[in-house]
Amino acid sequence: MAKWPLTQTHIYQELKSTDMKYRNRVRSRISNLKDPRNPSLRQNVLSGAISPGLIAKMTAEEMASDELRELRNAMTQEAIREHQMAKTGGTTTDLLRCSKCKKKNCTYNQVQTRSADEPMTTFVLCNECGNRWKVCMRVSFPLPVIHRCSLHKE
Ligand SMILES: [Zn+2]
Repeated sequence: MAKWPLTQTHIYQELKSTDMKYRNRVRSRISNLKDPRNPSLRQNVLSGAISPGLIAKMTAEEMASDELRELRNAMTQEAIREHQMAKTGGTTTDLLRCSKCKKKNCTYNQVQTRSADEPMTTFVLCNECGNRWKVCMRVSFPLPVIHRCSLHKE
């Protein structure tokens, strides 16, 4: 890519070094430009629609492909739904302990997401400090062991 050395120069001019930060910045640009799911970014850079100076500064969000953007929108939708549910109330339990204030005074709502094969998503709200989190479980309450869902890391 002919414009690539120029982009690196822009990054260097901004960061004034070739340390970790510089290398990470260069690497994130390369991975986005090489991403087969993100052809529009590559095209825009090649056509000059995105200048070397601009891509040097772009955030991961700005470089993201349409596909990734849609995914993020979907996640935002889920967050909205979660918020709405929290307002409609739920079941109060002392089976769950808040990781923040360590008290066992929580309200939970359970939602079956996507298919029935998938674990229940349980939205939990701490009534003491307002902390919110999600847990996934295969079986509904009451349940002695609750594991954190790897898909929903805080
Ligand atoms: Zn709490």
